[in-house]
Amino acid sequence: MVAGVAGPGGVFAAVVQWQAVHGRHGLPWQGSPDPYRVWLSEIMLQQTQVSTVSRYYPVFLARFPDVTALAQADVDEVLSLWSGLGYYSRARNLHQCAKRVVSDYAGAFPARSDVLARLPGIGPSTAAAIAAFCFGERTSIFDGNVKRVMARFLGFGEDLSGSAASQQLLALTQAMVPTDAAGSDMGVYTQGLMDLGATLCTRSRPACLACPLAEGCVARRTDQQAVLPLKTRRVKRQTLSLYLLVARKPDGSVGLERRPAEGIWASLWCFPEFSDRSLLSRLLGVLPMPSVTDWPVVRHALSHRELVLHPVVCEVAHNWEPPGSKHAGAWQWVAPGQPVQGGIPVPVRSLLAQLANGCTPPAL
Ligand code: SF4
Repeated sequence: MVAGVAGPGGVFAAVVQWQAVHGRHGLPWQGSPDPYRVWLSEIMLQQTQVSTVSRYYPVFLARFPDVTALAQADVDEVLSLWSGLGYYSRARNLHQCAKRVVSDYAGAFPARSDVLARLPGIGPSTAAAIAAFCFGERTSIFDGNVKRVMARFLGFGEDLSGSAASQQLLALTQAMVPTDAAGSDMGVYTQGLMDLGATLCTRSRPACLACPLAEGCVARRTDQQAVLPLKTRRVKRQTLSLYLLVARKPDGSVGLERRPAEGIWASLWCFPEFSDRSLLSRLLGVLPMPSVTDWPVVRHALSHRELVLHPVVCEVAHNWEPPGSKHAGAWQWVAPGQPVQGGIPVPVRSLLAQLANGCTPPAL
């Protein structure tokens, strides 16, 4: 533990010292001041575990080594490499942002957080991380982990569901960064805050005994770790039931259609969906299909929705084509085990794997 945490600059110094010894080092995206790499890792790390990003990041970087390569790519290829990471709006924004950096800034990321925050998909916290890591800007990252650490350390009891309280905590957090802090320490401090929130000041059962901020932490002193940060408004997930038409030809290939550019899984490849079974049955009724099998339900949680997916596998003739308005480029047949050109949502990818293996998923 570092002494004098409560004094001016104490938190900053304590976090910097702790990170150097106990923080996370050697992650694939660390050690480079290249804003492209920092930006890419920060976007991937939103809502995604470090272990998962560690697998995706090198593959993505090998294919798109710089912002120009990414800007010139087809969005389908970007979504394809993003498949499995979820929250696909991040990938679409990533592509848009790369184009903007190339067109508006000649391929060089702006150095100031307030300018970075105006680019697609870069919120204030990510902008602060890039500016601190790459340009030594004296600004604090303020993601969910940091909010939790700071609310506990300060004993901040306002409800963070409201933006006024959040802004208040942001100002207090920003004040932890001394105005004379060395720009070279900003990256270490930023990484330290992230590491602290991810490894010690966790949601449940924080490891206060090992924490460099323990000495001055109000939540620890008053035993409020379990109630802080206060957040009363929780996102309520609505349940949405969808029936998926899995049209399978005698050679085992199955049909996927591209989803609309807006809404859930925008522009990804998916089995055609129906809001209820009767609509699907009506379609099946007018088609000469020898065999229809209802597969077990698959559940999948999105940020605001709980999807209940009902795959209906229909064996169709080799010359069967999707009815209605399936226009060119919006439909593809995928042979078992073959890669799909474009992004695929996680449950669809898992269904494709089950189909390729010739088995059904376990019933829930
Ligand atoms: S002392 Fe405990 S509650 Fe306080 S910041 Fe450290 S880990 Fe979090």
